[in-house]
Amino acid sequence: MTKFIFVTGGVVSSLGKGITAASLGTLMKRRGVRVSIIKMDPYLNVDAGTMNPFQHGEVFVTDDGAETDLDLGHYERFIDERLSYNNSVTAGKVYSEVINKERIGRYNGGTVQVIPHITNEIQESILRVAQGQDILIAEIGGTVGDIEGQPFLEAIRQFSGRVGRANVVYCHVTLIPYIAAAGELKTKPTQHSVNELRRIGIQPDIIVCRSQFPLQSDMKDKIALFCSVSSDSIFQALDEDTIYSVPISLQKQGLDSYLLKRLGIDNKADSQLDDWMEFLERRANREEEVEIALVGKYTSIKDAYLSVNEALTHAAIHNGVKVRIRPIETEEVEEKGAENVLAGVDGILVPGGFGSRGMEGKIMAAGYARENGIPYFGLCLGMQAAVIDFARNVARLASANSSEMDPGTPNPVVHMMEEQKSVDCLGGTMRLGAYPCKLKEGSKAYRSYSETSEVLERHRHRYEFNNAYRERLGAAGLDITGIYPEKDLVEIVEIPSHPWFVGVQFHPEFLSRPLRPHPLFRDFIAAAKVGKTR
Ligand code: GLN
Repeated sequence: MTKFIFVTGGVVSSLGKGITAASLGTLMKRRGVRVSIIKMDPYLNVDAGTMNPFQHGEVFVTDDGAETDLDLGHYERFIDERLSYNNSVTAGKVYSEVINKERIGRYNGGTVQVIPHITNEIQESILRVAQGQDILIAEIGGTVGDIEGQPFLEAIRQFSGRVGRANVVYCHVTLIPYIAAAGELKTKPTQHSVNELRRIGIQPDIIVCRSQFPLQSDMKDKIALFCSVSSDSIFQALDEDTIYSVPISLQKQGLDSYLLKRLGIDNKADSQLDDWMEFLERRANREEEVEIALVGKYTSIKDAYLSVNEALTHAAIHNGVKVRIRPIETEEVEEKGAENVLAGVDGILVPGGFGSRGMEGKIMAAGYARENGIPYFGLCLGMQAAVIDFARNVARLASANSSEMDPGTPNPVVHMMEEQKSVDCLGGTMRLGAYPCKLKEGSKAYRSYSETSEVLERHRHRYEFNNAYRERLGAAGLDITGIYPEKDLVEIVEIPSHPWFVGVQFHPEFLSRPLRPHPLFRDFIAAAKVGKTR
């Protein structure tokens, strides 16, 4: 039967609970255990689709088109499994399900309450993902003590009664702050947060302590004493210079064996982490550096382009170079001119985005890359910007001069299709999730993807390349190298006469993995590296 690891957080948010959960996943997977991860977010949004990147960072998209919390991206990168709609549960989703059931009379006239109806629904959503797995890891968003989180904590408390206490591990991730004036690490906040957990009936089995400095054994003893755990179930997560070191550091402390033993999983396999270690070594041994301009609207927010940053890092490590990101606000390109903010970079990347603000700056960035032979990678809106630049400045289509990207008045070369307009959902339906893309033989994309004819990539967008302009743009030198066959939609454009100019209508960043960089990111960085030495 499936065993369960519940990860909660104490003291403060942003502790790296997601990375801890993901790392547990890596360690279990590398012992040959079948594992999946689920994120439970106490907020009332049904999904992350409508959330502003300024507040919540990037929206991660799964194959089946779920718009989820960015932690799902960490999970996929760390356990190298494709997750889906069911791996992301929010309070909003749970409540709307319960309310729907109430409306169709499923509760037979009973009073519908948080306990047991909401808590049961939460447990059902955990069991749904557990099928076919040896271990399911569930991370509870937020911090213990939050009002919103209580139904989730209550649900995971009850859960051990349902599946047996021996089949459940509660792992509490907490902060051990360093008080500079006293020159000491302090365990008190951890004691308080464990007390808070115990107040609602959860006794943690494992405590993972985030701290700036190593914990001495007397500190571990103190935490053990106050929190009723043994010292050997206290693990440390020191600040690391890369998140990818966390699984290794936890493995060195024996966390994987501890978990397996505690869950009664008979597993004698050694953990297979050699390739992961090699990846870290390659990462540490890089000297040369390429500089990539990231031209976006949320560049001041660390997590807004999380998967893009990770994909660039994976690709750079693969190419043996470091990548320095020059964050450029699109409006700065408009105000100061492309030359003044982009000069000297080795590559230009325009990521996805929504709304008309800053669109002109993205078009200018694409034009600057095109004219100066600088490697260009356009993702979704970044491809659309490249197409508009090309239509205006190479094909000289007067109709491409409008740059409005809002519904109702889209740019003619990148438009909303008629069939989308009929559904009024925040201004038209979105194409979400994985769609096949057929590649043109001999193109850069075709070569990048090891000469396969069809690939599957994830989407999140409304507008499409307008096929009415295909021939005119093609005649002017824009090569269409990827097509979604069923609807004949343009997925990839390239400029063959340029060293490396590729725009994609999808989001390749979601499929990049540390040990398997996305082929297009890999070759974009390779081109930036070549350009540098030319
Ligand atoms: N706003 C554009 C569209 O909806 C691009 C979306 C994106 O970049 N993800 O088509």
